[in-house]
This record gives sequence, C-alpha cells and structure tokens, in this order.
Amino acid sequence: MLRTHTCGELRPDHIGQTVTLTGWVQRTRDAGGIFWIVLRDRYGLTQLALEEGVESEELRAKGRELGREFVISVTGKVAERYSKNDKIPTGAIEIRVEQLEVLNAAKLPPFLIEDETDGGDDLRMKYRYLDLRRNPVRRNLELRHRVAQATRRFLDGQQFIEVETPVLIKSTPEGARDFVVPSRMNPGEFYALPQSPQTFKQLLMVSGFDRYFQIVKCFRDEDLRADRQPEFTQIDCEMSFVTQEDILNTFEGLVQYLFKEVKGLEIGTLPRMTYADAMRFYGNDKPDTRFEMKFVELNDVVKGQGFPVFDAAGLVVGINAHNSAMYTRKQLDELTEFVKRPQVGATGLVYARVEPDGNVKSSVDKFYSQDELQKWKAAFNANPGDLLLILAGEPNKTRKALSELRLEMGQRMGLRDKDVFSPLWVVDFPLLEYLEEEGRYFAMHHPFTSPKPEDVALLDNPDTIGEVRANAYDMVINGVEVGGGSIRIHDRAVQARMFSLLGFSDEEAKAQFGFLLDAFEYGAPPHGGIAFGFDRLCSLFGGADSIRDFIAFPKNNSGRDVMIDSPSPISGAQLKELSIATAVEKKA
Ligand code: ASP
Repeated sequence: MLRTHTCGELRPDHIGQTVTLTGWVQRTRDAGGIFWIVLRDRYGLTQLALEEGVESEELRAKGRELGREFVISVTGKVAERYSKNDKIPTGAIEIRVEQLEVLNAAKLPPFLIEDETDGGDDLRMKYRYLDLRRNPVRRNLELRHRVAQATRRFLDGQQFIEVETPVLIKSTPEGARDFVVPSRMNPGEFYALPQSPQTFKQLLMVSGFDRYFQIVKCFRDEDLRADRQPEFTQIDCEMSFVTQEDILNTFEGLVQYLFKEVKGLEIGTLPRMTYADAMRFYGNDKPDTRFEMKFVELNDVVKGQGFPVFDAAGLVVGINAHNSAMYTRKQLDELTEFVKRPQVGATGLVYARVEPDGNVKSSVDKFYSQDELQKWKAAFNANPGDLLLILAGEPNKTRKALSELRLEMGQRMGLRDKDVFSPLWVVDFPLLEYLEEEGRYFAMHHPFTSPKPEDVALLDNPDTIGEVRANAYDMVINGVEVGGGSIRIHDRAVQARMFSLLGFSDEEAKAQFGFLLDAFEYGAPPHGGIAFGFDRLCSLFGGADSIRDFIAFPKNNSGRDVMIDSPSPISGAQLKELSIATAVEKKA
C-alpha cells in the first residue's frame, strides 16, 4: 500500500509514530505561523500541520500550493493537537509533515465536497463521482452494502442458493413495458431485459433447487416518478413445497433480521391485514400504519337529511383527526384545496369540530340538527377537540381521495416519523383486476399467481370472477410496498386457463410461455415466492424518501444518466449492423 494508515485511524496511542497517509485535500487553513491541511479518505479526516520554524519553508510552500481535492501522500509524525476537536474520531492528533507528495492535482470541483454542499441536484448528478465523495452519499451506499450482506447471510443460513439468471431474455409480463436489445446475429429480432426473473425462478423450482434467491437488476420502461428508476434491484426469492404461511414466516424472518442487523431494532411479529380491510379502513393497499385514523363509513348516519351531496353519494366516509379542532378557517380551506387537486380528485370537503362542551359544529349545519351531529360524533368515537373530515362520492374514488387526505393529516400532525417503523403483511389480494380502458381483466400480481383453492369455483361465473382472491401478499412498511409475491400455479391446465382468462389465445400463450407450460408437464413442485424492492428497502432504512440516494449511479426523472450522457444516438453503421433499419422497414 502507498499508505501505512487510513485517515480515520490515528488516535493518541499513535503519538510519536511515523506514518504515511494518502487522500484528498478537504480544505486548507492558513493562520500565518501555522498552516493546516485536512486530509480525507473514505475512513475519515486527519489534520496535517506545517508550522513556521518547525517544518521547512520549502514544505510549507508546497502545502500552500495545494487546492481542494488534490490527491496527496504525506509522511510525518503523529503528534498531539494544540486544540482538540472532539467532533471527529481523529480530533486529538495531527501529523507533523516531513514529506509531502502531490499524487495528482485537481481542478476546483463544481460544488463543495462537504456534508452540506452548495451543489444543486443536476450538477451533483453530472458529477456523481464527486458527489459520492461526500459523507452522506457514501454512507447511503455503505448502508446498502450492509443490507445486501445481511440478506445473503440470512438466506444462506436458510439453505437458499443464489443463482444468476440471464439478462438477455424475452418479454415477461409484469405489466410494464420492456426494454429491448437488438440481436445482431438474429437480424430483426430482439431480446428483452427482465422486468423480474419471475419465469426463471419458477423454472429453477422445476429443476429442484427448492430455495433460490438473487440480488438482481430488473428493468421496467415506465414513466418515472420520484421513487422509480428504469433499472432497479430486487431481492428475488422462490421456495418449493411451501404454503403461503411458510413464505410469510420465512420472509418475516428476513426482515426482522435486517432490522436487527442494520438498525438494531426488534420489529416483532408482523400484523396481517386483508386487502379488503386495507381498502375499507385506509383506502389503500399499502396503508401507512404508523398511525390509526381509520376510515369511518357514514352512509347510515348521514343520508336522508336533505343534504343533496351526501344523499347522492355512493359512499360518505371520513376520518377523525384527534385534537385538531383548533384548525383555523385558513387551514381548513387549505385542506379543501388539497382534496380538490386533480391528483386527489374529491369535489369538496365537509368538516365538523367537536367543541369543548361536546357540541358538534359542522360546515353543513344547515342540513343537520345537533341531535343528528351527535350521531356523527358517536360514529367517529369523537371527543371534544377532535376534527372530523368527511368526503363523499363514488366509493373507490372517494376512498382513494380520503387516503390522500389521511396521509396529509398524518404528515401535518407529525404522525409519520421516519424513525418509527410499522411493517405489516397485506394478504388476500384479488386475483384479477378489471381495467375499464382495456375492457378486460388483468392479473393483479402477475399471470403466474394461483387463485385461492376455495375461490376457484368463482372463476366459472363472469359475475364473480372479480371476487376471486389470490394467494398473493405484499409486505408494507410505513405506507411503502417493500415486497410482494404469491403462491404460483404449478399445473399446466390451470396456467393455460389463466392465460385464456387474461385474453391470450392458445397460440399466443404458447408462443410467449410455451417453455413454462412445457416445464409444468415434467414434474413441477408446488412453489411460491416473493421479491423485495432492494433500493426501497435501503432508502427506508436510511430514512430517505427517494431511492435515488441509495443507488451509486442513478438516472434522473427523464430516465437519463446525465453523467455519461445516456441514452444517446448510435451511428448509422451500428444501426445497420444491428439490422434495426431492416426491422423498421420490414414492419412498415
Ligand atoms: N416477480 C414479482 C415482482 O417482480 C415478485 C414475485 O411474485 O415473486 O413483483
């Protein structure tokens, strides 16, 4: 090594030793008689000192020429500092420089390489390699590393085998668009990048691997939101000869282990909630259960009193924001504006306060007597000081809007603490979901998910098909879906039937998934699995909202890597070699 120690290592015990350190110049400070350099590497900061009359003028001149981010090597004696800095572990010592060598000069970086930087998002993305030098960013990747290592340790201990599956595959139907790659050797034909290794992990079960996992890149060509990346990482798992119960227990174990190892937290047993309850009480299949504020349905309480909005509504439903009756008119107007935003989609907000004397004052007092309003209070189990917020309209839309309002109130009331973790399983998802725009059913999870045996008969009747529940489950933490999976179909006939329900002709099913249907004829064991969003899990552990901060080289919101400037055009010659022009012509 070019160094004897790292910049985070030296302590008073080392005083008197001659050491060599290497690293980047974090900053320099000139106090006239003494010149300091703060040297940085991944492990920490160490102060170097060059004092008038002690270190040579030649060395001191060399020190003065250093700029921020120069890479240097320095040899000297560890000495006690005059004024100690108890904020850093090496703050009691400094190096009295004897030799200083510039290993590489550096241009002035475009933003400060400090914990608090002056660089905007775009600039830091363009110079991501510099941003990665900063402690907070590096720490995120260190956390990611720890989560990955702990995952491997746990799953290895449970007899899971890590198997790599191919990246150049063909289309998998996970509901998003595929990224495709032209094949030079097969003109006019394309590979697809996996949206997940779903079919491969199922084939590994047919192969008898019994327990598989992989920390794996997946690719989905979706419109990007703040927490989405076109390429992302999953902890992908599959098990044979298991029931849903076995999978839930195994992966509850994994998540408990990760919380313990990475955060030092005991999260205990995960509660379970059915999809139906999640929708009914939270209006959301990924409820943030750090706080209660459950939905209260009011149809029976509020209808028939002459208020046209409630009388016409399919559903009248509300939440009780405890101790928020002091909300001002202005704040309530803000909430009304909030629910009317197109993303939330409500037409208005009705509110009611429970006054100190127990009387209820509502925004629709015109239509409701105090006796009637007392019934509201009872329905909400409300007490003086509580604020009741009520929406009305078409049931699904109204639940969705109230879910947004509930989260907003949770935020405003400080109930969504990043350091509190509330994990749960959401189970019994519907198997199918009807998409109005497409005029047909889609698999809610994916087409390989098995119906609950007790619901299979409902598949025969078009009126009950939508009620069929799946052996499918999500793990949700703090309102974020961190993982999801299902027990799979392992019977060829059932799988073929599922494809047909989803609108595939026999030929289409064969062309796309013939390999899987065939495999099911050679002794496919019952199996099931789950995949966790690894980036999301890391951002949750790190207390951040965006997964971007936990990916070394992420893409921006337009799916671009602004550092390497990709995607980018390719040459005509390259296109020709890939027969892309031919493929386009053929199609035309
Ligand atoms: N392949 C699924 C996904 O990516 C997870 C699973 O069913 O195991 O969501």
